[in-house]
Amino acid sequence: MATTTTAGAAAFLPERRTLDDLRAAAASCEGCGLYAPATQTVFGEGDPHARLVFVGEQPGDREDRTGRPFVGPAGQLLRSSLREAGIDERTVYITNAVKHFSFVERGKRRIHQTPKRIEIRACGPWLENELAAIRPDLVVALGSTAASTLLGTEFRLTKHRGTVVRSPLAERVVATIHPSAILRTIDEATRAAEIERFVADLRFARETLEAPPAE
Ligand code: SF4
Repeated sequence: MATTTTAGAAAFLPERRTLDDLRAAAASCEGCGLYAPATQTVFGEGDPHARLVFVGEQPGDREDRTGRPFVGPAGQLLRSSLREAGIDERTVYITNAVKHFSFVERGKRRIHQTPKRIEIRACGPWLENELAAIRPDLVVALGSTAASTLLGTEFRLTKHRGTVVRSPLAERVVATIHPSAILRTIDEATRAAEIERFVADLRFARETLEAPPAE
């Protein structure tokens, strides 16, 4: 059972803040109660010099067990969509707003639970410093938790999806749906349409990245 600690990750930040230093320090973070029932910290992975960074919500069951982000079904959908959008996954960096798996147990199953605002805030220093170390040209927020972390709680995915927005954490951010939300759609036709729209958003991110900076 999670404790109620929400002191935050700031107390666990290392002095030197390269990605490797941050990853090593995050492994022993107890900045909020989510660390206690989870298996391990799941830090971001990918190209440390990526121009494009993807931020999801939190690790899922498979990620918690393997210690790697986006390795479950949502990650597979993200990767196939990246390929379809013409983005080489080896050139990007993928992480989450929250680094421990938030879940409730139902029998033997661990059911994803949206992290609380206080936990998202507690985990913020890891994402903030990951982005400061990478300094990407564009960040793609996957889902509303990532979008509100980067763009504030006023941001509405339904209204601002597919537009380039400035964030205190990154110069340019675009937001789209989280691939796990696509996997939760109930019928094939809706799912196919959602995948198509998701790929279009990723293509827009690639084109934004490739476009010359505005004068
Ligand atoms: S979720 Fe974030 S702040 Fe909470 S314990 Fe894990 S790494 Fe630390």
